[in-house]
Amino acid sequence: MTYAINFEANNAKFQKEGFPGKQPLPPSKHVTIVSCMDARIDVHKALGVGIGEAHLIQNAGGRSAEALRSVVISQQLLGTKEVHVIHHTDCGMLTFSNADIRSKIEKDLGTSAANVAGAIDFLPFADLDKSVREDVKFLKDSPLVLDVPIHGWVYQIEDGKIRKVK
Ligand SMILES: [Zn+2]
Repeated sequence: MTYAINFEANNAKFQKEGFPGKQPLPPSKHVTIVSCMDARIDVHKALGVGIGEAHLIQNAGGRSAEALRSVVISQQLLGTKEVHVIHHTDCGMLTFSNADIRSKIEKDLGTSAANVAGAIDFLPFADLDKSVREDVKFLKDSPLVLDVPIHGWVYQIEDGKIRKVK
């Protein structure tokens, strides 16, 4: 059985004790946050952002290239006016290369899967601050992204502190 066996009981408790009530669709603070999917980061708590206040786009590494589709929808259809990119220390994306993951895919899933993976950039990175700067630049340079404030941050897994990347 998977962990999902707990979902219905947990959800019943949430409905009673944690559900914040019906909220308007557009984020009330007009903010979009792109961050890593790392299970150790609670972006809402770490930044003091409440439910209904910001769009939270999470993927492996918090990479802008993968988040672009959602950023555009967030801005064009739901009125957000600033973007924050947050990467973090001890990120899994610092631990492998495209070649590494492609060879693992070949081992696990076979050659045809590896060929498909060969066309995918998994967007790993070797330098944390540089990856943040690259992702801010990627959004600033995109013709699809509004000319709004776009900032980069590093979240420190070790102590929960954030710092701005210049
Ligand atoms: Zn990460």
